[in-house]
Amino acid sequence: MPRLYESRKRILVTGGAGFLGSHLTDKLLAEGHEVLAVDNLFTGTKRNIDHLHNEPRFEFLRHDITFPLYVEVDEIYNLACPASPIHYQHDPVQTTKTSVIGAINMLGLAKRVKAKIFQASTSEVYGDPSVHPQPEEYWGNVNTIGPRSCYDEGKRCAETLFFDYHRQHGLQIKVARIFNTYGPRMHHADGRVVSNFVVQALTGEPITIYGDGSQTRSFCYVDDLIDGFVRLMDTGPEVTGPINIGNPGEFTIRELAEKTIAKTGARSELVQMPLPQDDPKQRRPDITKAKALLGWTPKVALDDGLDHTIGYFRKLVGELELI
Ligand code: NAD
Ligand code: UDP
Repeated sequence: MPRLYESRKRILVTGGAGFLGSHLTDKLLAEGHEVLAVDNLFTGTKRNIDHLHNEPRFEFLRHDITFPLYVEVDEIYNLACPASPIHYQHDPVQTTKTSVIGAINMLGLAKRVKAKIFQASTSEVYGDPSVHPQPEEYWGNVNTIGPRSCYDEGKRCAETLFFDYHRQHGLQIKVARIFNTYGPRMHHADGRVVSNFVVQALTGEPITIYGDGSQTRSFCYVDDLIDGFVRLMDTGPEVTGPINIGNPGEFTIRELAEKTIAKTGARSELVQMPLPQDDPKQRRPDITKAKALLGWTPKVALDDGLDHTIGYFRKLVGELELI
C-alpha cells in the first residue's frame, strides 16, 4: 500500500537486483516506500526485479558503486558486493574495491544528504572462528592473504569506515553481520552450498561435498533475514551494531546434503571433493543482541525454508532447461 507522502521514505538499495537486495526491495515497497535499486548486474539479474516493472514507486539504475553516485534519499541499504566464493574470487581486486571504495562512496552520499546508512557485513569477518558460537565481541581469525581475503578484509575495512564516519562525522550507521542465508532468487550457479545441492539434486547430478562434510553452517531463510534488516534500520541512533543476524540452528554440510536428497526424492550420489583453502570449520551466530535490541528471532525452520527454495528452483530448472 502506498503511504501518505509525508511518511514515505526514499530508500536506496545498492545490490538491489541481487538475491537479498531484491527481497529487501519487495519488503520496502510493500511498506509503502519509494525504492531506487542500484546494481551493476555482476551477479544480480533483472529477472529478480522484473515483477516491479510497472511499480511507480520503484526505479532501477545500472551503476557500479565504485564510482560516486549523486541522488537524494532518506535511507541507504548498502548490499552491493558479490557474496558467493566463486563470484567474489573471480575478480578479487574488484571485490575489495566494491567493499572499500563502494563504502566510501555510499558513506559520502549519506553524509551529504544526511541519510541513515545500513551495511551488509558478514559472518566472514570472524574468519575461521576459534570462538563458537560467534558473539559480536569476537574479533575473528582471518587470513589477510588467502583466496577469501578479498571479501573478508574488504568487509572488515568497510566496517571500520562505517564506524569512523559515525565517530568523525556523526553519521547514523547500522551494521549487520549476516550469516549464511538462502531462499528463492539465489543465483542457480553461484556455487553456494544450498543452491548447489538443490540444483544438483533436481538435475540428477552428484551432490558435491567439499571435504568430509563435517564443517558446519547455520542457515537463515531470506524472509527472516530481511525482517531483521528493517528492524535494525528502524532503531534509534543509539543502535549502530555490529549485530549478528542469522539462524542459530547449526547443521553439518553432510546433513544438509542428506536433507536435500530426502526432500527432492533425488537419486543423486554424494561425492567428496577437496575442501577449499581457508574454508571455516564451524559457524553459528550468537543472536543475543538481535533478540534484545531488535526483538528479532528467526521463525522459519530449515525444513520449511528448504521446501520453498526447492519449489523455486524446480520451476527455474524447468525454465532454464538445465536438465
Ligand atoms: P548477490 O550476489 O545476489 O547480490 C549482490 C548484488 O550486488 C548483485 O546484484 C551484484 O550484481 C551487485 N554488485 C556487485 N558489485 C557491485 C558494484 N560494484 N556496484 C553495484 N552493484 C554491484 O548476493 P547476496 O547474497 O544478495 O548478498 C547481498 C549482500 O549481503 C552482499 O554485500 C553480501 O556480502 C552480504 N551477505 C550475504 C550473505 C548471504 O548468505 N546471502 C551472507 C553474508 C553477507
Ligand atoms: N560446500 C560444499 N559443496 C558445495 C558448495 C559448498 O560442500 O557444492 C561447502 C563449503 O565448502 C562450505 C559450506 O559448504 O564449507 C558453505 O559454503 P558456501 O559457499 O555456501 O558459503 P561460505 O563458505 O561462504 O559459508
